[in-house]
Amino acid sequence: MPEPPHRGEQSFRGIPVSAGVCRGKVLVIGRARPAIAKVQLTEAALAEEVNRLEKALVQTRQQLLEIQRKVGEGMGSQEGSIFDAHLLVLEDRTLLDEVARVIQEQKVNAEHAFHSVAERYAATLSGIEDEYLRERASDMRDVTTRVLNNLLGLEEEADLRHLKEPCIIISHDLTPSNAAQLDKRNVLGFATDVGSRTSHTAIMARSLRIPAVVGLRDVSGQVESGQYVLLDGLNGVLVVNPTDQTLFEYGQLILRQATLQQRLRDLLQEPAVTLDGHRVLLHANIEQAADAEQVKANGADGVGLFRTEYLFLNREHLPGEEQQYQSYREAAAALKPLPVVIRTLDLGGDKFLAHMQMPTELNPFLGWRAIRISLQERDIFRAQIRAILRASAEGNLKMMYPMISGLDELKQANALVEEYKAELRQEKIPFDEHLEIGAMIETPSAAIVADSLAKHVRFFSIGTNDLIQYSLAVDRMNEKIAHLYEPTHPAIVRLIKSTVDAAHKHKVRVSVCGEMAGDPVLVALLLGLGVDELSVAPSLVPPVKFLIRRLKLSEARELAASALECESAGEILARCQELTWGIAPSLFENQ
Ligand code: PEP
Ligand code: MG
Repeated sequence: MPEPPHRGEQSFRGIPVSAGVCRGKVLVIGRARPAIAKVQLTEAALAEEVNRLEKALVQTRQQLLEIQRKVGEGMGSQEGSIFDAHLLVLEDRTLLDEVARVIQEQKVNAEHAFHSVAERYAATLSGIEDEYLRERASDMRDVTTRVLNNLLGLEEEADLRHLKEPCIIISHDLTPSNAAQLDKRNVLGFATDVGSRTSHTAIMARSLRIPAVVGLRDVSGQVESGQYVLLDGLNGVLVVNPTDQTLFEYGQLILRQATLQQRLRDLLQEPAVTLDGHRVLLHANIEQAADAEQVKANGADGVGLFRTEYLFLNREHLPGEEQQYQSYREAAAALKPLPVVIRTLDLGGDKFLAHMQMPTELNPFLGWRAIRISLQERDIFRAQIRAILRASAEGNLKMMYPMISGLDELKQANALVEEYKAELRQEKIPFDEHLEIGAMIETPSAAIVADSLAKHVRFFSIGTNDLIQYSLAVDRMNEKIAHLYEPTHPAIVRLIKSTVDAAHKHKVRVSVCGEMAGDPVLVALLLGLGVDELSVAPSLVPPVKFLIRRLKLSEARELAASALECESAGEILARCQELTWGIAPSLFENQ
């Protein structure tokens, strides 16, 4: 690892979430707008206040027309026409007259008047059943932000979909729906104040191979757009104004990484088999059909987790059966005969839709999420299952449910799937009659009753990201307690072991698809505990394979047996490190 930073430069330490080093100009986004204060005005000041409002409206209109023109040039008039709805808001006389009336009658500043009236309109719109009208609420809020920025003299927020030049994004937070919008060609890397290794934005960064560091506390308040930085996603460091010496040291690190990458590339066509001949199926996690290329390019044995919710983010409407069918079929066809496990929708938690009304919850990860939504919103579930079933005619699909917490849920989901299969049979639409269905084990309750669940599925996939957060009561998103998020906690090791034993008793195979599976240090432990398959970010397939090919299953079993006797997470981690650093030191030399 490079020397500590030199004078003249400033460095910040956070949580490394996506390996790789990049450097470039910063773009700070998402700085919180100051609260909109209510200012009482004198009678004499009111005419000028209405005037300010009119000017801000004209300015907003000009900005929107300019964006519309640029987007239209770059992407065609259809994308540009999205802004028609925004322009219409600015022409809504009822709204604008009411704002002017509030200024004059209540003698208040334009910001307060505009914000309160527009927010009331938006709240009314978002409460309406009609989907079209609900979407107008988000148009209303977008336009309100622009008008308020203009009234407050704040700079316009960069449009993440169309960045002007390559940059490193720095922000307080980046939600999965924001991240899904990023102009990937121009984002060199990103760094955030909050977040953790298993937040979905971090997971996306790994799958996009964008270097990323999260949990940098207040970095977004300390760095300015335009500053030059170096971002080390391997060690979790952001260096502002790096000196020549630092750049040189990082140049050396990049070279060493390139040598390692070459060694990993040599294994692409080789199987993930241990030194004593145990074949491990090593799959990849994907978020969209187009990622199938990455799966092949990294030499994976198939897809162990297709997170379908990303099809639902970043679009104006819910994708229907047909659109989903195309996407699942595309992934299956691209990878045939390799297996592709499609996970049914896992919305909620940190993944929300702008176009679907989702309640604001105090504990979203414990709330309306994943299979719970699917079992209640039957139209959404039906469309998705029909799409998966139809695509299963390709012959290499499997399907699994997220966040199963008990037998009733599993049976209910299975019964609905049978119902939808019967519909397709009636309609004479082909599907794979032998489609394998699995359950994710990501709640402690599911792990504890794995014995009962195993009778109703063909495979389990342990979602350690959630299993750890729910078992240890440690929010997977919260950087303040990231030190308590311990994959090697004895409770987790024992839960995985009992899940594997229950599954194997019923001849059910077990995969691990959480981030734990992609950490080379922990792979031996998982295999030693009896896990049959692993599924990791495509970019992590090569290092995990490298490790497996230097490992003996017998030593992995010894490691797991000793871990099951241990009483502390630190001790188990130390044993994992001792084994893996010993057999594959080159994987860890830059950390
Ligand atoms: C998990 O919880 O480990 C998992 C793979 O699902 P997600 O990260 O999408 O919640
Ligand atoms: Mg999960």
